[in-house]
Amino acid sequence: MKGRVAALVGPERVVIKEFDVPSPEPDAVVAKVRRANTCGSEVHIYHHHHPLLRECVLGHEFVGEIEALGEGVETDYAGEKVSVGDRIIAPYYRTCRKCPACLKGDFNLCQKAYSFWSQAAEEFPHFTGAFATHYYIQPDQYFYKVPDTVPDEVVAGANCGLSQVLYGLHEIGLSAGDSLVIQGAGGLGLYAAAVARDMGAEVIVVEGIPERIELAKRFGAEHIVDMREFESADERISEVQRLTNGYGADVVLEVTGVPEAFVEAIGLVRPGGRIAEIGNVSVDKSHEISLAPGLITRKVIRIQGFVRYQPWFLHRAIRFLERKHKDHPFDELSDREYSLEEAGEAIEREEARKVARPAIVP
Ligand SMILES: [Zn+2]
Ligand SMILES: [Zn+2]
Repeated sequence: MKGRVAALVGPERVVIKEFDVPSPEPDAVVAKVRRANTCGSEVHIYHHHHPLLRECVLGHEFVGEIEALGEGVETDYAGEKVSVGDRIIAPYYRTCRKCPACLKGDFNLCQKAYSFWSQAAEEFPHFTGAFATHYYIQPDQYFYKVPDTVPDEVVAGANCGLSQVLYGLHEIGLSAGDSLVIQGAGGLGLYAAAVARDMGAEVIVVEGIPERIELAKRFGAEHIVDMREFESADERISEVQRLTNGYGADVVLEVTGVPEAFVEAIGLVRPGGRIAEIGNVSVDKSHEISLAPGLITRKVIRIQGFVRYQPWFLHRAIRFLERKHKDHPFDELSDREYSLEEAGEAIEREEARKVARPAIVP
């Protein structure tokens, strides 16, 4: 049987290639892709701005359907029985369990994380990205069954943004009664608002785009700091002080990707508070800022950055959606559908978009 992939062969150069769909090795799974989302990371990869990915098969947020199980695969990574035809999702990286990072228990930092994704499409097993008709789940790549009640449009983004914020908010120690400022109500910020409300936190969202503000309210934001009204960082800091007893937020989550927002987060957080940094991922000169480190010392702030997540947080993400997907408009985060041949166009729309993610339906 033949299948197709959208292969990135150079910056902004996508070519559809056809290969035989391989049979899965022992412990591996071959899935048919049902729906894949475009994501901000795809835009980085498309322009060759990603530090680890160049020539590769595009796509990482997806929901699939089991086509073939490798020898030895009877359950998903939560012990649930699986068979051909079941819908599944997987983290977009593998966890080798043998490298120095895995030995420390940091599966999210596995040094082999992208060993398959960073290959050119010609290399076995070809179906290493989700903008494709099929996706090959590696023998040491987690995957989970999706309950029938959770629709494709809702679950397709779970292995990226939703798992990322679930992990970040858990690791930063957000707890019931905490005040949380979320800087930016894109996909990550909206997911974070819903998760934080579910965790019992008081949610304040800083945002300036009207459509995003409306969605933020529907995803659980209790207070909006509208950047059109509070134009400077100082004004926003004063407004957050007003909302938090004049003391500042217990936790700040940065998901704008704007370097200056990190400096602002230090102003927004209370003394002794915590900052989770997820949005800023670029490390080139154009993303440098100036900052007096003494601000962190004197305020006794804990700051932690996050990339990827411990793979079992994807299981939590599925359970979260199972309980909550009707409480918030998760389906509105999914934009127009594109064919595999239109992958480049979908990524360009993603780059220009305001909120919803273009989807590839192969
Ligand atoms: Zn590893
Ligand atoms: Zn993503």
